[in-house]
Amino acid sequence: MLYRQRTLNTPHGCIKTPVLFPVRNIGKRSSDNTPAYADAIPDLRTAMVNARAIRQRDPQWNRLLNGATLREEMDIPEETVIFADSGGFDFQAGDVDTTPARTLETQRQIGADILGTVDRPISRENRDRENQRRISDSAEYAVEASDEHDGEELLFASIHGLDPETVQNNVRYLERNGDFDGYALGSLVPVRTDYKKVTSIILAARRATDKHLHVYGLGGLVYQPLLLYLGVDSFDSSAFIRSAGNRNYLVPGFGGQELKHVTELSYLPCSCPVCRDTPFTELREDRNALTKHNLWALTMELRRFRYMVAANEDVEAYLDLRFQGNEVTKRAYRQAKQQVRRLT
Ligand SMILES: [Zn+2]
Repeated sequence: MLYRQRTLNTPHGCIKTPVLFPVRNIGKRSSDNTPAYADAIPDLRTAMVNARAIRQRDPQWNRLLNGATLREEMDIPEETVIFADSGGFDFQAGDVDTTPARTLETQRQIGADILGTVDRPISRENRDRENQRRISDSAEYAVEASDEHDGEELLFASIHGLDPETVQNNVRYLERNGDFDGYALGSLVPVRTDYKKVTSIILAARRATDKHLHVYGLGGLVYQPLLLYLGVDSFDSSAFIRSAGNRNYLVPGFGGQELKHVTELSYLPCSCPVCRDTPFTELREDRNALTKHNLWALTMELRRFRYMVAANEDVEAYLDLRFQGNEVTKRAYRQAKQQVRRLT
């Protein structure tokens, strides 16, 4: 097992890793902005935001320029550690409409602690040459950001690649040509069902650097234990919002459950503050409450893993149990275990 625990020092305080950055929808024009969780979940003093989306939302951006802080806007405590990505996901289809310098300036205006460099995610649908160009564009943006960056914030280079060699070469190139506090691995969401590919790419990144390793977009219930096992230091997820939007209730060990198939229950099988106090029929109709429960479910998953390590339990045996209910993820874990054992 490659699981590791570290401390990450940021301008707004230290956080213990591995850690989840819940994606905050703030800045997006949507009805499902994340409900406040910072006070309710004490070990979740983290948030992931999209720098580009915030800058593009004029009223809010003007308030920030006029002295408001994003933490006030989000109604979260001052000591919340914010990771601002560049919003590169929006460049998947369109052109890049920013520069590394402009993105850094935006991330600083937000008061972000961790800055993800501008990147152009790749996709399976693109031709190889197009993807190759995106991978090297992202690397060059990262080097430029490194040249521009001289602040207290942590700078994570966003890296891409759909095979282990590319990712490894990328990290080595960036180690030689820039100065980064960590790396953030992207483009894995479109291939997330290809577990073998995803875990081998993550392992390649993990082997290429001892620095902080973040994985973009895969922090949902199923992947979280795998990422921990593979030695990933942080991850982000919007699964708790998306699932709630589909009226899906996350149950650790089972994944998302569609509540419309469930009847005749008074209470759901969870003791988080939301489920404890809300009767089933009410909870089913309340997207906000579902979102909060789902975030608790992700948090409990992380707490449970940390507990198994702290209690000196056999983590591999624990994961054998966790993954036994589903053939696909069971196979995924078995493959990850083989890959890890070959390394250690
Ligand atoms: Zn609950």
